[in-house]
Amino acid sequence: MAAVRRICVFCGSRPGRRPIHLEQAQALAAAIADRKLGLVYGGSSLGLMAAVAEATLARGGEVIGVIPQALVDKEIAHQRLTEQHVVGSMHERKALMDKLSDAAIAMPGGFGTLEEFFEMVTWGQLGLHRKPLGLLNVDRFYESLIRQIDLAVAEGFILPANRALFIDAPDPAAMLDRILAFEPPPPGK
Ligand code: AMP
Repeated sequence: MAAVRRICVFCGSRPGRRPIHLEQAQALAAAIADRKLGLVYGGSSLGLMAAVAEATLARGGEVIGVIPQALVDKEIAHQRLTEQHVVGSMHERKALMDKLSDAAIAMPGGFGTLEEFFEMVTWGQLGLHRKPLGLLNVDRFYESLIRQIDLAVAEGFILPANRALFIDAPDPAAMLDRILAFEPPPPGK
């Protein structure tokens, strides 16, 4: 597997109701910066997205944002990043985030987070990349989603080999250790 130098983080454009989500966003940022990895994210100054970016910058880490022009005002494009790319569409945003990063992690979030993460999983399933992908299961936030995926495997909709396309871990340090040690599964049949 290619060396992981930058990690794409998908997470909520809202902070969530409980402080643990912001705390874990900052802990993920610290784990990324302490390992001398760069962060790629959606370029917003809102919610968990801003928390990850600002905590990475505070520890001297590189932060690259990618935001569509249409969201520059709505999500309030962050002004203090190492680099901010303003692109023409949501599709261009995801393509550039993919191009700039070597792995992706989803923290708690809403529809956008889930959509972005599962698009990366489906691209992996199609063999378009072999990047490590991780679901950060903060305080069991993703427990029922993981159960749903296991049900889809049991019901014959996801190949058992493809269940290994992403990993889950309860905390950022464990997640990064597993991302850096990740071996992609052989192509599913
Ligand atoms: P959310 O998890 O809904 O708070 O959204 C997190 C991020 O995902 C935000 O930057 C959204 O703009 C972005 N997002 C929402 N829907 C999509 C989509 N269909 N494709 C790409 N990004 C999206």
